Amino acid sequence: MSTQNITYTLPRRLLTYSKPWLRYTLHLVLLLCLTFALLNHLYPLKVNISYSPVITASDGSVINAFLSRDDKWRMQLEPDEINPVLKKAVLLKEDRYFYYHPGVNPFAISRAFANNLLQNKKTSGASTITMQVARLLYPQKRTYANKLYEMFRALQLEWYYSKDEILQLYLDLVPFGGNIEGVKAASVLYFQQSPRQLSLAQAVTLTVIPNKPSSLRIGEQNERIVEFRNKWLRFYQEQGAFPAPEIEDALLEPLEARRQQAPKVAPHFAYRMFRRYKNHPIVKTTLNRQVQEKVEQLAYNYMQRLRYQNIHNAAVLVINNQTRAVEAYLGSADFNDFAHHGQVDGVRAVRSPGSTLKPFLYAAAFDKGLLTPKTMITDVPVDYAGYRPQNYFGNYNGNVTIAHALATSLNVPAVKVLDQLGVYTFVQKLKQAEFSEMKRKGNQLGLSLILGGCDVKLEELTLLYSAFANQGRYSHIRWLQEDTTEQETQLLSPGAAYMTNQILTQLTRPDLPHNAHNSPNLPKIAWKTGTSYGRKDAWSIGYNKKYTVGVWVGNFSGEGVPELNGTDSATPLLFDIFNSIDYNSTAGWFQQPKGIGLRAVCAESGSPANSFCRNQVLDTFIPGISSTRKCSHLKRIAVSEDKKHSYCTSCQPATGFVQQLYPNHAPELLTFFDAERIPYTPIPAHNPSCSRIFKEYAPIITSPAAGMEYFMEQEERQQLMLHSNAHNEVKQVYWYINDKFLKATAANEKVFFEPKKAGRYKISCTDDQGRNTDSYITVKFL
Ligand SMILES: [Zn+2]
Ligand SMILES: [Zn+2]
Repeated sequence: MSTQNITYTLPRRLLTYSKPWLRYTLHLVLLLCLTFALLNHLYPLKVNISYSPVITASDGSVINAFLSRDDKWRMQLEPDEINPVLKKAVLLKEDRYFYYHPGVNPFAISRAFANNLLQNKKTSGASTITMQVARLLYPQKRTYANKLYEMFRALQLEWYYSKDEILQLYLDLVPFGGNIEGVKAASVLYFQQSPRQLSLAQAVTLTVIPNKPSSLRIGEQNERIVEFRNKWLRFYQEQGAFPAPEIEDALLEPLEARRQQAPKVAPHFAYRMFRRYKNHPIVKTTLNRQVQEKVEQLAYNYMQRLRYQNIHNAAVLVINNQTRAVEAYLGSADFNDFAHHGQVDGVRAVRSPGSTLKPFLYAAAFDKGLLTPKTMITDVPVDYAGYRPQNYFGNYNGNVTIAHALATSLNVPAVKVLDQLGVYTFVQKLKQAEFSEMKRKGNQLGLSLILGGCDVKLEELTLLYSAFANQGRYSHIRWLQEDTTEQETQLLSPGAAYMTNQILTQLTRPDLPHNAHNSPNLPKIAWKTGTSYGRKDAWSIGYNKKYTVGVWVGNFSGEGVPELNGTDSATPLLFDIFNSIDYNSTAGWFQQPKGIGLRAVCAESGSPANSFCRNQVLDTFIPGISSTRKCSHLKRIAVSEDKKHSYCTSCQPATGFVQQLYPNHAPELLTFFDAERIPYTPIPAHNPSCSRIFKEYAPIITSPAAGMEYFMEQEERQQLMLHSNAHNEVKQVYWYINDKFLKATAANEKVFFEPKKAGRYKISCTDDQGRNTDSYITVKFL
């Protein structure tokens, strides 16, 4: 509060007024005013109150509070929290002319002074509410001199503050014994409610205690308090201050209150808000108290079952999709579980995402036109410069659709799609979605990032999924009610978001918890699970139109548990939460957006059907974006009449051949078919008298990886594996090391070779058509 100089200018006409008594009075008033101005300048008013920071939920209730800097429970009232009943009771009891006097009440002072002289005892009543505020701000012994000092401060208060502000200061500062000050702290700690909801009896209780705060302790002297309370209730009855039946009820109301702990709902969230909005006496958050309490209870009970598996921590975040407001925030299932680091905030902890980024990858690939949900992708062993991803269950599925690959969370296709999209592009997308670790070290990430080889926070993942529920629009979390800034980023097209939603809603998938299919309470949601490497993190993140809920389960200690996985450890809690907070959601389901179409595609490839495609299915696609390349699942080949040889355009004879369709499998798929002994129709061997050597379809050397350095143990005589994927009409390949012939093998067979000395090696593979591929590696001995 800044002090201001006060200057009075009285009209000259008044000063020169003829009547002497008026002139003396005016002089006296002027003198008093000048004295006040001088004192006001010398002793400026300082109102510097340290309040207990209070965190409130969306309904205004206090969910958490922290001690003031001087260790008091002193909570600031909000203007609308001043209960009219309480206000009336206080004014009638303490200072009924409060709104009419200038801070001091001369008539009350004269009366009290006279009483003191006549009866030689001190009576109260002369202190106005403003003077009491002055005393609370500047505590002094009760002497006549200090009374004058209080009056001066009261005048100052009246000068700088409105009556309502002074009344609020009084209500914020009156003592209630111990370290409780103000009616808000008293309401919350004694009655566990907002001052708004006080009954008449409670309001009167709070008006009488400040007279003797040390001898009228709620919870210790409740009978005496009721006596006092009722004495004043009868006074109000005489005054006709409140309706008679209400007073009758209030007189009978028992007082069972005792001091309780300050509320400790959502402790991690409250602490975060406390730190984030330091020095705010009231932090009005968007937290939904009912949702929060349900989530806390569900998670607590749920973790009681999991702890027998040595799984001890869980974190949950609930975001309202329409407003992006956080409605529930559970940093850990049990804040007070000291043995298992319950104080760690799991919503903000940096963890491995497991498979939870996959939906975002496929959606980004939809937007690049690379894929549609029915596009076929190979799920067979692959090798990316030494990186060989494996599926969760260790098996491979050959050809699968993208929808199946995502719904069943296959790893190999995800890595393949990331390779097609590009790690850089995907990392840029994640940066757009404010993934903090991507900003820090996204440039160092490789293909493994899609299988969990990166760092994320539950908060970031949940917000990312919320974009799927918002037609691909990403926005920040809203923490405070006052925060209404809408900054949206179109992260994905509405079409890509919709396609992903449809896939994540499928029920035929392995991450449906055991028996959930038969459960009548299966919520209608889109969701995705994740399990990190080493089984340290179990994720399940789901959404419907109204909410996005992120669940993480694991151990803050970092300990992995064999039983831990997203399906069994996190999804049941996710389902419980949806069933509890949005059972039978009325918000409906996502509508197909405008920028999306339906087309017939070949079931063999997922590409637009060709003339030879018999088996067609409908697929969603993004017109103008999705690839329109026609299906090539079959290939027309000219073969000899006995079908022993195939021809290319240069060796095709004029007559004596037939055109025939053959399956056009990718080389890595043929290797897989061979390894798994899956029968397929091979293209007949190429015409042996064909002289043309064409570069197309040369073998692809899959091992060793081109350009790599291989560190080998010379004593152990380690060997390098040679392998290639050859075109499907190839029968035999020939291996050369540094242009020296090594071995001839059947196509796709593995060969081993022992490097004798360190250095650079040229490895060549030539097929029976004469097509050749060279690859260079470096061998070093340890
Ligand atoms: Zn086809
Ligand atoms: Zn030929």
